[in-house]
Amino acid sequence: MKPLLPVDEALATLLASAPPPPASELRCLQTACGMVLADDVIASVAVPPEDNSAMDGYALRARDATAPLPVSQRIAAGQAPEPLMPGTAARIFTGAPVPAGADAIAIQEQCVEVNGTVVIQGAVQPGDNIRPCGQDIPAGTRVLARGRRLRAEDMGLLAAVGLAQVPVRRPLRVALLATGDELVEPGVAPLRAGQIYNSNRYMLAALVRGLGMQVVDCGRVADTPEATAAALVQAAGSADCVISSGGVSVGDEDHVRHQVERLGSLSLWRLAIKPGKPLAFGEVAGVPFLGLPGNPTSSFVTFCLLARPFLLRYQGACDVEPLWLRARAGFSRAKPDSRQEYLRVSVSAGPDGPLVVPFANQSSGVLSSVCYSNALACVPPATCVVEGDWLDVALLDSLC
Ligand code: AMP
Ligand code: MG
Repeated sequence: MKPLLPVDEALATLLASAPPPPASELRCLQTACGMVLADDVIASVAVPPEDNSAMDGYALRARDATAPLPVSQRIAAGQAPEPLMPGTAARIFTGAPVPAGADAIAIQEQCVEVNGTVVIQGAVQPGDNIRPCGQDIPAGTRVLARGRRLRAEDMGLLAAVGLAQVPVRRPLRVALLATGDELVEPGVAPLRAGQIYNSNRYMLAALVRGLGMQVVDCGRVADTPEATAAALVQAAGSADCVISSGGVSVGDEDHVRHQVERLGSLSLWRLAIKPGKPLAFGEVAGVPFLGLPGNPTSSFVTFCLLARPFLLRYQGACDVEPLWLRARAGFSRAKPDSRQEYLRVSVSAGPDGPLVVPFANQSSGVLSSVCYSNALACVPPATCVVEGDWLDVALLDSLC
């Protein structure tokens, strides 16, 4: 059998194999979050659109502040002011436009107004408490770049520059199938001997939806060559990408790999990764195919580290890889593994920076190791860990 493929090489192959992204469509701001921008967004207006007051107070010319000033107008947010009469001050409120002729706002805590005249008690400099036009976004700026995965705060930014809709890539349709004669849907009880509940179906669907993509749920597939082939053909015909779980290892009951080779081709299989060694990648009838291992933790880890970047690149996103940061090992491990290991760990604030503590049971069948952790820590092949060593960690939040 061929040597196991290093994780980095597998990831590079996957990213290079991602097809061009789907066509673009216009989405309103209420439904665009999580989608990938298909074009740069240029602001046609400045934000803020005009100089406005950062505080409640009095608008004036800074050099007039030493004398008592008659209050010549009152400007609330939403109102259009008159130009400031020379030698006067204007009562002004946060967010209201600064009148022409004023160059500063004296905050109301430093002002005493009696009978329509205001006395300013502190020093005032030109520019004080004014939010200048365009300080957030000058008109003509590229505010968001093509390939950006839109976040909640981006919805605010797009609205701030007056856009009601944006061009995004049509969400990929990802077909999911869970192989295994032992699988039963949750809700069915009691389990008969040999049965387990189908966890991957729900976990993978949530992961795909979390990427802003559409799930084509192909359900459970029996462990026969015929059922596997039929499910793969149906899935490939209804989606942009097919992802299976289970049945991709070397056992007699593992039919996925052979059927993919029969119906399409396999470009990689078996990685130097723990958990998740049997991961497969190829195509079925021209549609990209990813075969994730059946063990739920293996499915989760390989989805996050390999399927996710592939799907995001295919979706047209620029940032597709998780953010790896360094943290100190709060544990030692004498026995090195030949595969690159991704430990499920908790990262917390230690006395000398972030500290990594692994979940006690790292078995690939123990999905609670993911649920009760907040990060993956990478231990390279053939590497022992000594307490205090630096490890690469990625928070689960950046992985799914
Ligand atoms: P396989 O990769 O098909 O050999 O499955 C490896 C292990 O993962 C076996 O113990 C399976 O019962 C389990 N498994 C496979 N698919 C699922 C699933 N969808 N949900 C929960 N466990 C699964
Ligand atoms: Mg199986």
